Amino acid sequence: MSLIADNLMRVRERIDAACGKARRPLSSVQLIAVSKLQPSSAIREAWEAGQRLFGENYAQELRDKGTELSDLRGIRWHAIGPLQTNKAKYVAKSAHAFHALDRLEIAQELSRRRTGDALQVFIEVNVADEETKSGVSAVRALELAQQIRALPQLDLVGVMALPPLGSERETRAHFARARTIAEQLGLRALSLGTTADFEWAIEEGATLVRVGTAIFGERPR
Ligand SMILES: *Cc1c(COP(=O)(O)O)cnc(C)c1O
Repeated sequence: MSLIADNLMRVRERIDAACGKARRPLSSVQLIAVSKLQPSSAIREAWEAGQRLFGENYAQELRDKGTELSDLRGIRWHAIGPLQTNKAKYVAKSAHAFHALDRLEIAQELSRRRTGDALQVFIEVNVADEETKSGVSAVRALELAQQIRALPQLDLVGVMALPPLGSERETRAHFARARTIAEQLGLRALSLGTTADFEWAIEEGATLVRVGTAIFGERPR
């Protein structure tokens, strides 16, 4: 078995165990393999091991990999990183979902550029009130949700958060805050958790976890 296939199996086992602990069905959590800065060959290996959802941070890299790997049936790209308006067209064209929506301007551009089926979008919330962080406050999230819902070609499905690394208590409190905001917005999808904390995220209700390093190893510089 390849190293990536082996890592994937372990991550899936850990997701299974976390679901058991949280008394949730395994089918309620989807794994996004975060492949940013990893070569296309690594994505192929993961796909051969049954992985279908992949996360990318950089719009041009997403566009290039989407083209290069268009032969991989059933592959779905999740754009998870911050986006500039002038790059939104790549996400609109190649992605199934965008997780880092925190500005109306980006939503408008994605809406304008999207053709075919609607793009699934997640509002990124800044649950730890970090000054330098992307993501919006709970109050702004309500307002932004209304604005997004008025736009064609976008399907607002959930909330995403990327809190700072911390203790179990701190991290779970941040995840719980994201869950509360999603509930207030009437949204079901919760994109929470990375290699460092995906099991806690599942215990706090994550429906998608975004795991890179535990699957692909350290990212090349
Ligand atoms: C890079 C990244 C991840 C994955 O992080 P790992 O620590 O490699 O699992 C998840 N979410 C976002 C938004 C990222 O940028």
